[in-house]
Amino acid sequence: MNILKTTKSKLLLGTVFSLALLPVFSSTAQARATKCKKIVPITMFFHFRDRMAYNESLPIVRYIEKETCTKITSLAPKYASKSIDVLNLHLASGHLADVVGLNNFKPIATKYGVQGAFMPLDKYFKYAPNIKRAFDTIPGAKLKTRAADGHIYYLPYFNPESLSVGRSYFIREDWLKKLHLKVPKTVQELEKVLIAFRDRDPNGNGRKDEIPYCGRHWQESIRLVNLFGSRTSGSDYYFDMYQDKKNYVHYAFVEPKFKEAYKHVIKWYKEKLIDPQIFTRGKHTREILFARNQCGMVHDWIPSTTSFNRSLAKKIPGFNLISIDPPKGIDGSQYEEHARELVRKDGWGMSAQTKHPMEVIKFLDWFYSKEGLRANNYGIPPNPYGIKPVTYTMVKGKPVFTKQTLSQPEVVGYLYKVGASAPLGYIRDRANEMQMVTESDKKIYGKYLKWLIPQYSGVAYTKAEQRIYDRSWSVVNLNIVPEYLQKWMLGTADIDKTWDEYIKKVKATGFFNMLKVTQVAYDRTYNIKHH
Ligand code: CA
Repeated sequence: MNILKTTKSKLLLGTVFSLALLPVFSSTAQARATKCKKIVPITMFFHFRDRMAYNESLPIVRYIEKETCTKITSLAPKYASKSIDVLNLHLASGHLADVVGLNNFKPIATKYGVQGAFMPLDKYFKYAPNIKRAFDTIPGAKLKTRAADGHIYYLPYFNPESLSVGRSYFIREDWLKKLHLKVPKTVQELEKVLIAFRDRDPNGNGRKDEIPYCGRHWQESIRLVNLFGSRTSGSDYYFDMYQDKKNYVHYAFVEPKFKEAYKHVIKWYKEKLIDPQIFTRGKHTREILFARNQCGMVHDWIPSTTSFNRSLAKKIPGFNLISIDPPKGIDGSQYEEHARELVRKDGWGMSAQTKHPMEVIKFLDWFYSKEGLRANNYGIPPNPYGIKPVTYTMVKGKPVFTKQTLSQPEVVGYLYKVGASAPLGYIRDRANEMQMVTESDKKIYGKYLKWLIPQYSGVAYTKAEQRIYDRSWSVVNLNIVPEYLQKWMLGTADIDKTWDEYIKKVKATGFFNMLKVTQVAYDRTYNIKHH
């Protein structure tokens, strides 16, 4: 819109002004200063993964403000242990920020969107070319985001398909060698390997101090039921529903086959094949137990796990974690349950109360633009505003992480600190992740693709269905189930003796009726007909 004016000024001012158009930072800064005719104030609530707020203290947010001519004010607390609770407080108070989001935002967006708390964004797509393009071209984008009333209330974080692999089983190859064991291919072979790790001193210190299977997320010990004929989840959230091959929706933890499978896992725990402290050891489990040369196996993210091969090479000569194929289960099945969804439930939306929806949608649209995708995938380029750290530069027209970025012990963690890689509405670039991983990591991604199974993308509940879901889902999924899973594993309650009382508690919340309602909603959402 300013093209005419600019051309005119250029003509008038001649060479003096054209200098300002050269990409010299100080001059560009002036151009930027004039480019922002006004600064749009935007309030934001984006608290995610129970620990981080997307706020003005993050370098990337300061950079984005400059690029989008906005002034962002975060209404989210910097630290909170449960992001969802803080967001619920905001929803209850009725005062929402212009932009609202969370990881796993879809259930909130579809629920409160139908109730009128969020703006139907599809009505604004025509003003948001980048958003529109994403929704038009990414398979399943509309189907997986829309609410029961047909409107779209949140803009998701999209993952390219080639990045759907997230976790792999990893085992200490040097320990296998030392004990003259082969890579386990079945759950029976795996059990033998874990017993050998426990009993035959692979770390060679003369003490029986090895922990065969460990993990920073205790839920990964529950997931071992995959090897014994049961599922745990259908999405990249722990404890979610899943659909079977015939499109029937399940919740694993109330099914008899889960009970039978879990008994095997409990046995492994009792026999100390699983870390006795798995429930309490926490997020630094790998750093601690690998560095002490004590842990033999994990099921975890690929690049962050293989990085221990480099960081511990000097300290523990021969230390070598290798990715192994998912062991074949007792029922003969072989799969990797964890995957990253293509249309994620993470993302953000716009408050229905916002006073300037057109400016907010333009702001949100920027995140799907080339510049916005770069900022979220790669962080901060050399810039005229003096904002640091610079995390990438353009090389032959492509964003490339700086050496400083790639030399960080944990690249993704570093990007989080800068504010990039947050689970807000944008598209993940495969090239970004491929820069962070080694050649052998790339092979693991390729190899694991074939073990993935279809993801459960949730459903769009009507208002009435939503009430039924709300009454039972959280209390069962967040309270009753984790409580019993831990009690049974720790041995403070016997699974056979307390299974009926457990099911009774679940049933009292209306959970089984909720599952029936979910099937109806699922069939409607995805146009499924059962014969
Ligand atoms: Ca030992």
